[in-house]
Amino acid sequence: MKFLKQVIDYTKEAGQAAKYIGQGLSVTFDHMSRRPVTVQYPYEKLIPSERFRGRIHFEFDKCISCEVCVRVCPINLPVVDWEFDRETKKKKLNHYSIDFGVCIFCGNCVEYCPTNCLSMTEEYELSTYDRHELNYDNVALGRLPYKVTQDPMVTPIRELGYLPKGVVSGHDLPAGSRGAGKLPEEILAQMESDAPKEEAKAAE
Ligand code: SF4
Ligand code: SF4
Repeated sequence: MKFLKQVIDYTKEAGQAAKYIGQGLSVTFDHMSRRPVTVQYPYEKLIPSERFRGRIHFEFDKCISCEVCVRVCPINLPVVDWEFDRETKKKKLNHYSIDFGVCIFCGNCVEYCPTNCLSMTEEYELSTYDRHELNYDNVALGRLPYKVTQDPMVTPIRELGYLPKGVVSGHDLPAGSRGAGKLPEEILAQMESDAPKEEAKAAE
């Protein structure tokens, strides 16, 4: 009886092992029919998402030197160098800088700036050999951001979240193909068309 039990156990385990090998190989064979998803950086680059928090852009002429950005920054990072102009009786901005070697890209300064002179761009290639070069003055901050979609040397690739339903690679997408889900304007239109029905239901 003991021998028979051993044979049954062995057969069960062999069956299970075959099942697991089959499952593993099914994943392997599934990938054999897919195209590679690797992005060949720097010849190909992913298009950052809409709310990507990259290098900060600064508009010197809009800044009123209020220093709100400094107060809301978790590390009091922006340096606002201003002086009081006795003639105009207003603050006069001389220099403005942010050190991206220290910035955590939280976006607080952008969120709270009363004149919207700060904005987060989609620029993420900030590497330098010297960390002091990451301290951007108002001229460097005022430079218009680099855009992946406007660089003729680069093939822009859509991120996974912006691909059509069921597609896992942004390569060779047909022209005009759009991401899964609804666009904000479509959601608004849907809400507007549903509003009378909701009101009728509430009145019942
Ligand atoms: S919050 Fe805006 S306006 Fe005020 S100092 Fe900072 S950048 Fe200038
Ligand atoms: S993004 Fe955050 S850490 Fe960087 S300067 Fe603005 S508030 Fe400070």
